[in-house]
Amino acid sequence: MHGTPQRLKLGHKCRTSMPLWSHAYDFLVPSGLDSKSASANVVAMPQNHDSYTIAHIAIAVPELKDVLGKVESVLNLKPSGHVEEIPTQKVRTEFVSIGGVRFEFLEPTTPDSPISRFLEKRGSGIHHIAIFVEDLRAKLKELKSKGVPLIDEIPKIGADGYEIAFLHPKAMGGILVELVQKSEV
Ligand code: ZN
Repeated sequence: MHGTPQRLKLGHKCRTSMPLWSHAYDFLVPSGLDSKSASANVVAMPQNHDSYTIAHIAIAVPELKDVLGKVESVLNLKPSGHVEEIPTQKVRTEFVSIGGVRFEFLEPTTPDSPISRFLEKRGSGIHHIAIFVEDLRAKLKELKSKGVPLIDEIPKIGADGYEIAFLHPKAMGGILVELVQKSEV
């Protein structure tokens, strides 16, 4: 997706009059056209000294078979081949690894599954982001003491046998976050 000439012009204007981090239109610059100044504008990310890593990114879909078939035919990416049903969450899951990140595809198993309700409201898309933590129980205790709303105050067993707990979407401005105990139980 490339910008219109007008937008490109605006992007160049920004460069002389605004701080580096404010180039909102830089992503519209086609690669190769202005690569020299675009690379000079790479935003320095703050160094977060924590132990968080991405466990997986979960995507809600109406039918695993249909979507994973497309992932395979369009992107040539093979799903894990291991379909797991999680009765407590009324979902069926299968993972696909993309660029070292695990994507958890979720299909509802019942009409009253939380995934069915999500799909009705929002359609297919990112359902939650799962983050590994070193000590899930300690983290939940810490968050609770800070008044962070939690769906699960006590860990439960999620996909692949990991201990997990969901924060309430209110905790992160409507984004659903799952915390995952780093080592398998
Ligand atoms: Zn998950």
